[in-house]
Amino acid sequence: MNQDAPPQNGVSRWSPPPLLYASAAVHLGAAAAALSRPRVWPWALGAVALNHVALAAAGLWPRSQLLGPNWIRLPARNGVAAGVAITIDDGPDPAVTPQVLSQLAAHRAHATFFCVGDRVERYADLARDIASRGHAIENHSQRHRHNFSLLGPGGMSAEISRAQDSILRVTGSRPRFFRAPAGLRNPFLDPVLTRLQLRLASWTRRGFDTVSTNADVVYRRLADSLQDGDILLLHDGNAARSRGGKPVILEVLPRLLDALASKQLRPVTLRSAL
Ligand SMILES: [Zn+2]
Repeated sequence: MNQDAPPQNGVSRWSPPPLLYASAAVHLGAAAAALSRPRVWPWALGAVALNHVALAAAGLWPRSQLLGPNWIRLPARNGVAAGVAITIDDGPDPAVTPQVLSQLAAHRAHATFFCVGDRVERYADLARDIASRGHAIENHSQRHRHNFSLLGPGGMSAEISRAQDSILRVTGSRPRFFRAPAGLRNPFLDPVLTRLQLRLASWTRRGFDTVSTNADVVYRRLADSLQDGDILLLHDGNAARSRGGKPVILEVLPRLLDALASKQLRPVTLRSAL
């Protein structure tokens, strides 16, 4: 593909966010100060260290916009209801995902599955089933590495582009959104996403359903103050089990879909809001 071709998918050319401009200024200013007045070098070093703390903090905050664009809600449309995007991470999982699909079908609801590329390849029939039912499969990296946010640009690019290839090969559809493992990232991610024509999506609220075993608590985290445009996060992979041994998402999802229906909020995919 011609690298200079105008980007499709509405993703514009990469431009550094203000925090990166500020960081470059801090580094240049510190170097200039230390060179011209050697005695200030401890202060210059301190300024650079503080700047790195700020960059790391921005990467540890999944909903921050400081490292680049990041969907935390569906974009508003002139007076037209956007709907609510239920996003389901870390699958597909052969024990959980088929039941999730049944629950969604019973409510005629569509959801967005942020799938792990390796799992899409291992459970290819299940991934195709998700897509054939009208749900969206998006990119949650190839291996869901726990050190993803510590990778450099090459490592991040490999994890994300491999998952693009896996998902396209298995389902025939190319992801348009990316979500970082655990929502953690660093300044190298945004230019990689721009090059791959992906948008970063995090969430409005999450249920913490990989660690919480109480389905009532998970439900309330998601459903309290439910509003048009919300992006909600649940997990079919790595799902915590309730006291009865049931994956928490299976106890939460039907109640959540009922709550949406009672508020006349339409469950939609993220890409339907593009
Ligand atoms: Zn995940």
